[in-house]
Amino acid sequence: MPQADVGSERKGSKMNHSTSYVIETQALSKTYKNIHALRGLDLKVQQNSICGFLGPNGAGKTTTIKLLLGLIRPTAGSASIFGMDCVRQSVDIRTRIGYLPQEPHFYEYMTARETLRFVASCFFRGPKKAIEERIAEMLEMVDLTSKADRPIHTFSGGERQRLGIAQAQVNYPDLLILDEPAASLDPLGRRDVLEVMSRLRKYTTVFYSTHILDDVQRVSDTVVILNKGQLVAQGPIEDLLAGSEGVVYIVHLRGEVEAARQQVLAQPWVSGIIDGQHNGDCAWQVSVSDQQAAEAQLLKLLVNGPLVVTEFRRKQYELEDVFMQVIEGGQHVRK
Ligand code: ATP
Repeated sequence: MPQADVGSERKGSKMNHSTSYVIETQALSKTYKNIHALRGLDLKVQQNSICGFLGPNGAGKTTTIKLLLGLIRPTAGSASIFGMDCVRQSVDIRTRIGYLPQEPHFYEYMTARETLRFVASCFFRGPKKAIEERIAEMLEMVDLTSKADRPIHTFSGGERQRLGIAQAQVNYPDLLILDEPAASLDPLGRRDVLEVMSRLRKYTTVFYSTHILDDVQRVSDTVVILNKGQLVAQGPIEDLLAGSEGVVYIVHLRGEVEAARQQVLAQPWVSGIIDGQHNGDCAWQVSVSDQQAAEAQLLKLLVNGPLVVTEFRRKQYELEDVFMQVIEGGQHVRK
């Protein structure tokens, strides 16, 4: 394994070609005997983003990760990382990647510090002091400083995952690939792991697989949704959460609403109102064609009359809505 100088500054990502995509795949496919685990995946992951790779069990997430790491070969199509081919240049690629497998294995009798020292010794030459500083920095980053000298068999699931992230990050990789980093953890353990992941944003690109929607909504810039080996949605999380029906405002009103309805419908930037009820209030979903005009004028129109406005907000979808829509509807959303 090539060695790096441990004393060097954190690296900026060194791309071998001009795009800002760290990961790119073209029609990437994998068939195991008669199982089509992955079908024609076109994936793009931007530099310095956190990309949540989401899909139900068996969707093909681990298969994709193994293909990216060069651990298995594609049946068809291609994949590149930093512009290098994942089959032909996987050794070079791996020197710049940190990887946390779904179930990381440790030497249980070793402490966290010893484990990181062992991993660091595979990567670095250089003064012992600099290596120890790097280890201390990693322990701090994953909040394990106070537990650094305890054997790993005493660690909780969350602590083990955080140690796994520290281990994957110890050589300051340009890309960190995490396979289901929080899947087996309780809510507190998950929260801590997600916090560590969001801390990594300023150092590296993070690509992580999960089947937990809430995690993706909490810590991701972009989302890729895979189902039955096929890409069903890909894009910035806020675009996916904005939905496909345009900009919609939720307005709850108390009082006689008819005059206000006519006034709102008369605005050129209002495309329609869907009526509903919420706790005895009138609940509107107002679709607009011009978000700026709506932001500036819609609430003003309503508060100027005799009505009481009990709620006013832009409609946002939960990722669960989008997920169900694309998984169950078989719909393709590509932003
Ligand atoms: P999970 O969330 O359960 O880990 P996943 O999205 O990671 O699922 P994969 O592990 O990539 O999904 O599996 C995709 C499909 O390929 C599944 O149907 C699985 O059974 C099949 N598969 C994976 N590895 C192999 C293999 N080595 N041999 C045969 N089939 C395989």
